Amino acid sequence: MIQHQLPLWSDIAIKCSLGEAQQQQQGLGHIELVLGHALVICELCLEASRKGVGSDLPLPVDRKDALGKTWMCRRCRRRHYTRFPEPPRPALPRDYDSVPSPLDPEDAQDGHDEAHPIAHTDDTVLARARSLHGGDIGILAHQGDDYNTNHLLRRRRRKMLATKLTLVGLKFRSDSKLCGTYLRGSWYDPSRVAAVMKEMEWYYAETSYWDFMSEDFESAMSKTEGLAEWVQILVRDHGWGARETYKTGAIVETTTEDEQLHHRRDGARLLPPPSLWPLIDGWLQHMFEHMGGSVDMELWDQTYRPDPGAFTISIETDDEEE
Ligand SMILES: [Zn+2]
Repeated sequence: MIQHQLPLWSDIAIKCSLGEAQQQQQGLGHIELVLGHALVICELCLEASRKGVGSDLPLPVDRKDALGKTWMCRRCRRRHYTRFPEPPRPALPRDYDSVPSPLDPEDAQDGHDEAHPIAHTDDTVLARARSLHGGDIGILAHQGDDYNTNHLLRRRRRKMLATKLTLVGLKFRSDSKLCGTYLRGSWYDPSRVAAVMKEMEWYYAETSYWDFMSEDFESAMSKTEGLAEWVQILVRDHGWGARETYKTGAIVETTTEDEQLHHRRDGARLLPPPSLWPLIDGWLQHMFEHMGGSVDMELWDQTYRPDPGAFTISIETDDEEE
């Protein structure tokens, strides 16, 4: 297919760092990679927005010139609206909410009080909000709860998440709460959502996470317990050398049938995804030092667990910094 070889697609994919390294094995060519990231790629400058949420996203602008409707990033919208200002309108509560230090609309009524010597008129608030978020549509996207804007973005969000999931070897699942929340317009980082989905796949397949969940442990606690057991089995079966090999697939199944965890798959073991490596490395290092390098399970400190904060999912991002 000649279109797959057009240098344009690879140029954009490389320029936007869309996952060049993994794409081949996942069956994603440059064209699929770029289209899959349409949510974040500006049609004008062809650059990817870094945060991928709120007003940082490319949004459709009805241009009066020959380009017509164009999905433009915040920087391009700012430039556009400087040349073609939007018509005046009264400032709305959301305009006040979308500037960094929210100004009380009542203060704005009298611009002469001493605490606020500069008149915070509706006009200045509106101008600040529009400039900060790249026009009215940027303000709506920043607010995040506008039905029309969310509707506009939903298909692109879905495509983006499906692409991110493909890149980590997963398929989109409509029954996932995490995925659903992302599609409804949360400020979740889709790369992080995909990474968390990958982690969950591993917890389910290789640890007793689900057993703990079934016993009404909360999710973070179930992960801690499931991982604690996994770390212990890893060291028992493979010694401390496993610290270097568990990432590369050199670990093999040596536990007996009885000990096999319920949700483990037959055949190949799933390896912990890279996003979990720092946590596991830190844990193993702590245990190694604590046990003086001995693999004696009698010495195993059952009470040691990494800070529970390490298991709390953090996927929120913000749209203001550039
Ligand atoms: Zn742009």
